[in-house]
Amino acid sequence: MEILGKSLVGAQNAAPGSDSFRAFSPATGEKLEPAFYSASKADVDRAAQLAADAFPVFSQLKHTDKASLLTRIATEIEANADQIIERAHAETSLPLPRLKSETGRTCGQLRLFASVIEEGSWVMARIDHADAQRKPLPRPDVRSMWHAIGPTVVFGASNFPLAFSVAGGDSASALAAGNPVIVKAHPAHPATSELVGRAIRDAVEARGLPEGVFSLLFDSGNSIGAALVQHPLVKAAGFTGSITAGRALMNLAVSRPDPIPFYGEMGSTNPLFILPGALALRGKDIASQLHGSFTLGAGQFCTKPGMVFVPEAQTTADFFAEFQSKVSQSKKFTLLTSGIRSAYQRESEKRRGSAGVAVLAEGEQPSSDLPFFAQVEAFETDLDTLNANVDLSAELFGPSTLLIRYTAKEQILRAARNLSGHLTATIHGTDDDLREFADLIQILRTKVGRIVFNGYPTGVEVCHAMIHGGPYPASTDSRTTSVGTQAIYRFARPVCYQDFPDAALPDELKDGNPLKIFRMVDGQLVRE
Ligand code: NAP
Repeated sequence: MEILGKSLVGAQNAAPGSDSFRAFSPATGEKLEPAFYSASKADVDRAAQLAADAFPVFSQLKHTDKASLLTRIATEIEANADQIIERAHAETSLPLPRLKSETGRTCGQLRLFASVIEEGSWVMARIDHADAQRKPLPRPDVRSMWHAIGPTVVFGASNFPLAFSVAGGDSASALAAGNPVIVKAHPAHPATSELVGRAIRDAVEARGLPEGVFSLLFDSGNSIGAALVQHPLVKAAGFTGSITAGRALMNLAVSRPDPIPFYGEMGSTNPLFILPGALALRGKDIASQLHGSFTLGAGQFCTKPGMVFVPEAQTTADFFAEFQSKVSQSKKFTLLTSGIRSAYQRESEKRRGSAGVAVLAEGEQPSSDLPFFAQVEAFETDLDTLNANVDLSAELFGPSTLLIRYTAKEQILRAARNLSGHLTATIHGTDDDLREFADLIQILRTKVGRIVFNGYPTGVEVCHAMIHGGPYPASTDSRTTSVGTQAIYRFARPVCYQDFPDAALPDELKDGNPLKIFRMVDGQLVRE
C-alpha cells in the first residue's frame, strides 16, 4: 500500500497543507519518506462535525454490530500486518518480534472489547422498581445504565506504536462504548499510524457505518492536538504520553467553557521494594531479573522500575555483585526519538552531578555521533538524599534506574508515605516479610494503581481485572484504567430513566431483559 502522508478526515484524504514533517529512523538518524502534511483547523472542524453527525447512529447501533466493527478492524490490521510491522520497525527501530507481539496484543485487545460489548453487562444496568405503597411517599421506578459519551479524541505515545496508538486501548475502548474517535497521530511513527488508520477506515466502510466514526489527523506541532481538545463538538479525550504534555492538554480540557473529561495516562517511576527475607533467599535472581525489567524496551516503558529500595544486610553483596555485572555488560540501546534521547542525556547528567548520588554501574558507552543511542546506567543513593531531592523520584525515560539503601523498616515506610502517584509498586518478599511489612501494603494502596508481588511491573496483561492508572501524576484521574476492559468507563456516562414506559426504555433496561445481561434489580445482581 502506498503511504500518502495525508490526514484521514472521515472517508476523505485531507488536502496537503503547507506544513510537513518526516519520520526518522532511530537506528541511522536518516529521514524517512514520504512527507506527512499537517492537518488544518478546517480539517479539525470537519472531523469533529462528521464525528458529531455519526454519534447518534453509532452510539445506538446494536451491540453485536458495534462488536463486529472491532473484530473487522482487527482483521484489517492482520491482513496488512507485514507492511505495518515493517514500517513500525523503520520508524521506531523496535525489534521485529516485539512489534509482532504488539500487533497481536492490539488485535487481541480489539477482540476482547468486542466480546465485552457482545456480552452486554458492561452497561451496569440497575433497576429499582416503583413502590406505590411506600409511606410517606410512593417510590418512583428508577433505572440507569451507562451510555457513550460523545466524539472522543485520542493521543497515542511514541513507545507503543500499535498498542497505545491509533488502534490502541483508548481507541478500542472509546469505540466499544459507542463513540466516534478522532486520533491525533504521534509524529514519531506517522506511516504506521496512516496504515493502521486506513485499516480502521476500511473497516468502518465495510460495516456500512457513517464515515465520521473515525478520523486521523497529522501535525508537525501541537496546535492540532490543542484545537481538538478545545473543540466544542468533542466530549472526551484520552491521552498517553509525558506528564508535561498530559498536563498541558488537561489544562485546556478543563478550562473550556464546557469542561470535558480528560484521561491522561502519563509517566511513572514505579518503586520496587526488596524486603530482607527475599533478598536473603533470592538476591542474585532478583538482581538479574531487575536488570531485565528496567532495560526492557530500552527502559522506555511507563512501568519501568525506576526506583529500587534495597535493605542493608549481610546478604546484599550477592545482589549488588550480580546487578553491577549485568549493568556493566549491557550493550547500548537505540532510543525512539532524538527528543527522548536528549531528555535522557540531560537528566542523566543532572543525576551524575547531584550531591549524594553515585554511579553504581554503567554499560557500553555509545559513540557520540549516533544521536539516538543511550547507555544503560544504574545510580545509588540513600534515603536522606532521596527525601531532600524531588528530582530523584521523577521518571527518567530510558535504560536507567536508581537504587536506594535502607536499614530500618520505619525508613521505607516513610519513603513510601512520601511517594507521589505511580502506575505500579512492586514488593519482593517472603510470607514473613509480608507479615512484618503489612503497613507497606496499606500505604502503597493509596499511591498506585497496581501492586505486584514477587514479579516485575513491565508487562501489563490486557484482561478484565487489570488496572493501569494511579493517582496524579501517573494519571489525571485515579479512578480509571487505560488497560483492560474497565477502560470503557472513561468514555461512557451513566443516565437514569425515571417512570418510563417499558417500550420507551433501552433494551438493557426493559422488564423482560431481552439481552439477557447481568443487572442489579432491586439490589440483587441477577440475569433473569
Ligand atoms: P509526549 O511527548 O508527551 O507525546 C504524546 C503526544 O502528545 C504526541 O502526539 C505529542 O505530539 C503530543 N504533545 C506533546 N506535547 C504537547 C502539547 N504541549 N500540546 C499538545 N500536544 C502535545 O510523550 P512520548 O514521548 O510519546 O511518550 C513517552 C511518555 O509517555 C513517557 O513519559 C511514558 O512514561 C509515557 N507513557 C505512559 C503510558 C501509560 O500508560 N501511562 C504508556 C506509554 C508511555 P508532539 O510530539 O508533536 O508534540
